[in-house]
Amino acid sequence: MRHPFWKNLPVTIRPIVITGEPVLHRRAAPVEVIDDEIRALVADMFETMDAARGVGLAAPQIGVGLRIFTWQMKNADGIPERGVVINPHVVATKPPPGEADKHEESEGCLSVPGESFPLRRGEAATLVGQDLEGRELRYQATGWFARMFQHEYDHLNGFLYVDRLDEKWGRKARKVVKGNGWGRAGLAWQPGVDRDPFGHDDDGAEPEPAGERAD
Ligand code: ZN
Repeated sequence: MRHPFWKNLPVTIRPIVITGEPVLHRRAAPVEVIDDEIRALVADMFETMDAARGVGLAAPQIGVGLRIFTWQMKNADGIPERGVVINPHVVATKPPPGEADKHEESEGCLSVPGESFPLRRGEAATLVGQDLEGRELRYQATGWFARMFQHEYDHLNGFLYVDRLDEKWGRKARKVVKGNGWGRAGLAWQPGVDRDPFGHDDDGAEPEPAGERAD
């Protein structure tokens, strides 16, 4: 997908803030007008998501408390592989009963870098919102795409996936956050500069398990 409006704008890879940064833990504000400033922000979000090898990125993750997320993910749902949504609303099906599978349902997040924990999510989700031209968009997603929509939408409401874990995994996640010295304001990592937290740029690294996606 080309971005003709942005091709003359300077584009910046932004630092990704880490859990504990207040903007990640509060509800993001609606976008009132889609202007050049928003278009430049979105261009930076795409650049940052790509540099971080994320499948999705929400504006609060680069420290901006606005209701926008981007994605880059192949899918079988007929949804564009690369996209952005402004002021989205996501409705998901109820997660099936039972415990999340460690191998099949482990989720990751660029704001909890390098970690992953299993979480059960709804298997289908509907996304409505606006594209960058202000037109309504509506997509029906399944599987990992539906999971990504739910994950990014949570970001805009001030929640991280680790806030949704069951008791056992939630306890482990809190320990990991504490152990890494996270959970306080002012922490970030720089994609393309800092070592890739999910090991994407390690020589001879094993391919990521299918179930672990960072967004
Ligand atoms: Zn995330």
